[in-house]
Amino acid sequence: MSEELSRHELTDCCEVLARIDPFLDHELSEEEADAVRRHLAECDECLEHADVEAATRALLRRCFGSQRAPESLRTRVLMRYTHVEIRTTD
Ligand SMILES: [Zn+2]
Repeated sequence: MSEELSRHELTDCCEVLARIDPFLDHELSEEEADAVRRHLAECDECLEHADVEAATRALLRRCFGSQRAPESLRTRVLMRYTHVEIRTTD
């Protein structure tokens, strides 16, 4: 019994889904992360959930994670407008 527990074999989708968050945050132990990866390789439903979760996080990080990205974007937009203004007054 204890041997089974130490293997961290996750066969229950609920258990895996509960670990998707910490898995994406790299907060799981290597053993647990491995078990999640193993389950995702075999379970399309959990894989899809993990994909959506990861995509959402990537999007949020891109939008709010770094202050540099929006700043450089603003600069580019401003430069573009300036450029357009110069061209239209020509
Ligand atoms: Zn599953």
